[in-house]
Amino acid sequence: MAAISIERVTKTFGRSPALRDVSLEIADGEFMVLLGPSGCGKTTLLRTVAGLERVDGGRVRLGGRDVTHLAPRDRDIAMVFQSYAVFPHMTVEQNIGFGLRMKKRPKDEIRKRVGEGAELLGLTPYLTRYPAQLSGGQRQRVAVARAVVMDAPVLLMDEPLSNLDALLRLQARADLKRLHGEVKRTTIYVTHDQVEAMSMGDRIAVMRDGVIVQVDAPMAIYDAPATQFVGSFIGSPPMNFLEGTVSGGTFSGDGFSFPVGRAPASADGRTLLLGARAEHLVIGEGDIRARVLVSEPLGSHALITALVGRTAVKVQAPIDTHVAPGDELRLGLDPAHIRWMDQATGEALP
Ligand code: ATP
Repeated sequence: MAAISIERVTKTFGRSPALRDVSLEIADGEFMVLLGPSGCGKTTLLRTVAGLERVDGGRVRLGGRDVTHLAPRDRDIAMVFQSYAVFPHMTVEQNIGFGLRMKKRPKDEIRKRVGEGAELLGLTPYLTRYPAQLSGGQRQRVAVARAVVMDAPVLLMDEPLSNLDALLRLQARADLKRLHGEVKRTTIYVTHDQVEAMSMGDRIAVMRDGVIVQVDAPMAIYDAPATQFVGSFIGSPPMNFLEGTVSGGTFSGDGFSFPVGRAPASADGRTLLLGARAEHLVIGEGDIRARVLVSEPLGSHALITALVGRTAVKVQAPIDTHVAPGDELRLGLDPAHIRWMDQATGEALP
């Protein structure tokens, strides 16, 4: 068992808090993604779990054991970092087996584990090569293999794919996901790439300013973001937001007014944000009047930017939708897909 328990962890560098009272429970075998913009504290949180950063307050438990004050080598974890260093003077085989040799494991065991790790990451044909004779993606897989063969129950990864080009990244993403399916290590994976987070995580913890804003399964976060920030950060394009008020089942704002059925009871008297995903705005017979600004054909679909009143919204439409700038549209929106938020706090209404 290697569940990870982060309890009320705080960490301050000088005067600026990097982690503010952060708690997170990660189940045994779970793939947890830490997602958020640059500087939100993802790496710091990962490093406190690794033992590379001393916490100012709170506790970290691995598999029930309190490791808060243990050195990294005593925590039984494997790590892959953004600047994955493979040793240039060692072959792939020697690189993958490096950690095992440091731990003075028997030669037979090292050979067997390195063979398995190489197989898992498609590196068997390259075992005798040196890093200079590998592509960037293969080198990166060597770093992952080296961490994986360590057999540690906890795997920590900090943006391990960030040095790869887009195509390699796509491939490596799928590889890592498959790998996790086969070897169910409890994994914490740091990224600022929301697509990576959506595609890989069992759950995502979205962070902002040293705080975890929301933790849930990727689609739950996508469909029901807890705040306007999360709705804007997850999804491409970001969730659309219209500002206005509801009265008698009609939502009205700057230059628009349309029926929305029943708004939540707690909406009374507040300025609201109506959140709607691009794919839930349907061109055709609807009550939302809009004027096309631009249409972008993207292969599988078209992305149309249109003005609702004075607010620009993104609409995902079938690729054969032909509209031109200036065209008047009527957009439909199923009220079941509306995410209501309080304009003042940015928080979703219950
Ligand atoms: P990125 O995606 O850019 O790596 P991040 O979310 O991983 O960002 P952290 O590296 O955890 O962010 O940094 C969180 C905050 O703590 C930032 O404001 C950063 O400047 C600060 N910080 C991190 N490490 C140190 C340090 N060693 N000394 C001083 N400040 C630090």
